[in-house]
Amino acid sequence: MTRCLLLVLVLFGGLPLSAQTRVERKRPNIVFVYSDDHAERAVGAYGSPLVETPHIDRLASGGLRFTNSFVANSICGPARATVLTGLHSHLNGKMANPDGFRDDLPTFATLLQKAGYRTAMIGKWHLPTKPRGFDHWAIAHGGYYNLDIETADGRSRREGYTTEILTEEALAWIEKQRAGERPFVLWLNHAAVHRTWMPGPRYLTRHDERSIPEPATLFDDYAGRSRGAADAQMRIARDLFPAYDLKLPASGEGILDRNATGMLNRLTEAQRAAWESAYGPKNRAFTEAELEGDELVRWKYQRYIKDYLRCVSAVDDSVGRLLDYLDRTGLADNTIFIYSSDQGFFLGEHGWYDKRWMYEPSLRTPLIVRAPGVTPAGRTCDALVQNIDLAPTLLEMGGVDVPESMQGRSLAPWLHGEVPAEWREAVYYHYHQRDSGRTSHTVARHVGIRTDRYKLMYLYDLGDWELYDLQHDPDEMHNLASLEDHAELLAELRQKLRGLIAQYRDETAPEF
Ligand code: CA
Repeated sequence: MTRCLLLVLVLFGGLPLSAQTRVERKRPNIVFVYSDDHAERAVGAYGSPLVETPHIDRLASGGLRFTNSFVANSICGPARATVLTGLHSHLNGKMANPDGFRDDLPTFATLLQKAGYRTAMIGKWHLPTKPRGFDHWAIAHGGYYNLDIETADGRSRREGYTTEILTEEALAWIEKQRAGERPFVLWLNHAAVHRTWMPGPRYLTRHDERSIPEPATLFDDYAGRSRGAADAQMRIARDLFPAYDLKLPASGEGILDRNATGMLNRLTEAQRAAWESAYGPKNRAFTEAELEGDELVRWKYQRYIKDYLRCVSAVDDSVGRLLDYLDRTGLADNTIFIYSSDQGFFLGEHGWYDKRWMYEPSLRTPLIVRAPGVTPAGRTCDALVQNIDLAPTLLEMGGVDVPESMQGRSLAPWLHGEVPAEWREAVYYHYHQRDSGRTSHTVARHVGIRTDRYKLMYLYDLGDWELYDLQHDPDEMHNLASLEDHAELLAELRQKLRGLIAQYRDETAPEF
């Protein structure tokens, strides 16, 4: 798309009806693939040392890859609410997974639908309300195999691997839109690569013959930081459940191991046989080895990370199938393609799995946009962008005015390869969820600010501050908050954090 055409599209709302009809078909389609818990370190285009993702990389080589893409609250439901509304969690109501969601707010879907787009949401939803603003919606329930799909017409079981079925649902919906006059927007929400990382039939034994590199902080002892990190129950060494997470034989004890039995009971006989064939010999070898100490932690890491990466490969295949389809049908030339995830994830950094924290592995999330004729191919953008920006971006790309009430900013200038005269110098973060209990992760609530170099976090349930110099300490191992020679920097960042709390009107933030 040329700049002139984009201008036409932006002005589209003010054109007479005949002119609207003429430009209607030229408004771009949008395919937005949103995965779950997919960390940047597991994306080839982000330099992954762990796995190849040739299809997502193909998208990156044809588009723009954001290298400083962050979330506002690193957890599933709230991330979705933020993407829909362009608002931080405290204003859209979805501050924690159990919370409600303000269903009266404008979203990218309601506004694009109102502007004439055909709209669809397929996959994980994770909000307590039914999808609004979508002509078609299909919510996935039930995990990695043989999911139940809920639509406005009811609920039905589909046999097969969820990542593949959702892709087929997406392709089928796009196929139905091809003959239409109006542009479309599809939001495909993969349930992968969320816990409990069950690989599909194609990838059950992938990586069996190799050892995946360990992160430098796998054996972190949490010294030098506040007690929040040591208290968190997300350690690979201690907090992965044998059957539920590690695919070892179920003991039948505890709710998560009972859940594991339920997950396996969903499998068909053939799926179960393939599963046993893949895991049976490996589990027997594990039992015979009688590992202890660090060797046991290393084994758990390998089991966890390999299953995670196997699920990533299925998501990558999904992107490939969609890209191939768009190429084959000629839709690619007028279709913006976005890949992102609801947050990042710990892949053994600090000895952890899971997310929630404002630490880099879960604060960051991949964001790649290919807009034919707009984004320079194979470029990167290091501006500080955040998931509050996605709704405004989708709206501007669809030629729709962004409501003043949205807190994010359109990324359109960056997509054009331009540098806006003024852009944010820091992002605001607030993790609201009160985690407690054996199956939770006990992560302390925190607010924080991240600039291009520094990060300040206030773990307000504990009264602890953490300050990191990301330039010298990218792994966030050395908390500078209590050091005398950093007092001035600490005060300056605290003041900036207060400024962000005021700017984003977060009345739920603590006083300090
Ligand atoms: Ca997630």
